[in-house]
Amino acid sequence: MAAQKKTFYCLRCQARFPMDHDPKVVVERTCPKCGSNSVRLETPAAAARRAEQQPAN
Ligand SMILES: [Zn+2]
Repeated sequence: MAAQKKTFYCLRCQARFPMDHDPKVVVERTCPKCGSNSVRLETPAAAARRAEQQPAN
């Protein structure tokens, strides 16, 4: 099975970006925008939580 393109998001700068995701392989990911390694796979729950927490600019 090939890796799939999944949406990930950065906990630090809230950037969202597609990355290859293979459920069998644990990869240390880095945000392409800010370089943080606090990057998570975006699940429906995570997307809903993010929508509630709009950053106050
Ligand atoms: Zn970032």
